[in-house]
Amino acid sequence: AKSAREGVHVYVPDPVTGTAGSDRLRTMEELRTALAEDELAVFLQPQMDLRHGGIVGAEALVRWHHPTRGLLSPGHLLPAAEQAGLLRPLTDRVLELALAAAGRWWADHKVPVSVNLSAANVTDLDLPDKVAAALRRHGLPALALTLELVEDTLMADPERGRTVLADLRRIGVRTSIDDYGTGYSSLAYLRHLPADELKLDQSLTADVDRDPRAAAIVQHTVALAHDLGLRLVAEGVETVATSATLARLGCDVAQGYAIAHPMPVEEFLRWLVAADSALVDETLVPRLSR
Ligand code: C2E
Ligand code: MG
Ligand code: MG
Ligand code: MG
Repeated sequence: AKSAREGVHVYVPDPVTGTAGSDRLRTMEELRTALAEDELAVFLQPQMDLRHGGIVGAEALVRWHHPTRGLLSPGHLLPAAEQAGLLRPLTDRVLELALAAAGRWWADHKVPVSVNLSAANVTDLDLPDKVAAALRRHGLPALALTLELVEDTLMADPERGRTVLADLRRIGVRTSIDDYGTGYSSLAYLRHLPADELKLDQSLTADVDRDPRAAAIVQHTVALAHDLGLRLVAEGVETVATSATLARLGCDVAQGYAIAHPMPVEEFLRWLVAADSALVDETLVPRLSR
């Protein structure tokens, strides 16, 4: 199921899992150490409202400060985590890091943080309680957190997945359907999924300023999302031209290199303060959304 999404964007195929079994075992072992010894971090990428240019979210993306291989992206660690059965502890760790970071900016900026879930989480009936406890620990309201999932994470047990999502929304956490329009996403799923947001995949937003067919797909997805009461976030927005076209087509929010690359927590905090003041003198953002 994963390979269907891997080619789409920066989800780098794992060279480790593609090679000999002993390497794979070593990575799994190292990942256990990483979890125990605090080698994981999150980078944060801002999400911008395309109408008024405000920062309305930040996605937390896991990174691994590997002792010898340097900074590793999710493509190098998620497959190993999955094979080692470490996806739940990994998410626990990422959730903790993301909420600790949000706790530092929430009072001043009220910007929610998004965390990615995997299939192992969506079928975890204890997830809503764990999430509620983590929010309490960091003194954050539920609306400070959005949880993202791709639809195929629900395939194993859709019924249980819907229960977990519904429970999360009941406590006030928002849910988001990631990479929409790729892989196994389908309209049938949309009908019953308890969600607040659709994230339109980069493969569908990339050429929107030059390709009328891409624009038609975005425009119709916007209408669909809005008719279902969902907010539409465009992913992988790399140019100002794309951003402007997406705004014109009615997308609510944009995320991508045109706004900012994912960055370490300290850097994001500085960026957020700068973006806020830029908003006040209307320099940074109108350029992107017009
Ligand atoms: P995603 O959730 O769809 O996250 C967006 C990915 O697109 C990120 O890659 C981000 O760095 C990249 N990106 C953002 N803007 C642009 C752009 O303008 N152009 C291009 N080409 N790429 C852009 P990253 O950090 O490598 O993460 C890849 C995937 O790994 C994520 O896709 C998500 O599915 C998964 N992932 C990341 N962190 C976690 C985590 O903590 N837990 C779980 N379960 N999955 C995670
Ligand atoms: Mg995501
Ligand atoms: Mg995505
Ligand atoms: Mg994606």
